[in-house]
Amino acid sequence: MTIADKVALCTVPGCMRKHEAKGYCDSHYKRFKALGDVMADKPLRTNINRKNGAPCTVAGCTREQYSRMFCKTHYQRQLKHGHVMADKPLRTNKTRQQSC
Ligand SMILES: [Zn+2]
Ligand SMILES: [Zn+2]
Repeated sequence: MTIADKVALCTVPGCMRKHEAKGYCDSHYKRFKALGDVMADKPLRTNINRKNGAPCTVAGCTREQYSRMFCKTHYQRQLKHGHVMADKPLRTNKTRQQSC
């Protein structure tokens, strides 16, 4: 009774992924469920985890995520120091006040 009898592929033109449900691959199906439309001309992003516009997870930080959990600055802190030093405020580009 299912379409998935054969090795079915996603029905979205150009998409070669394995069929998952309702004629779509997993990603397109998720799109379809979430948006009601598969947006066939929008290519799928493979790394959805990255750069999805979610904010940094450090409390009080509203920057956009750069890596898994942190904004760029916090990420670099994490790399450098092993922790994000959440209570240290981020420096926003040293105010340029070179008196001239
Ligand atoms: Zn697809
Ligand atoms: Zn941050």
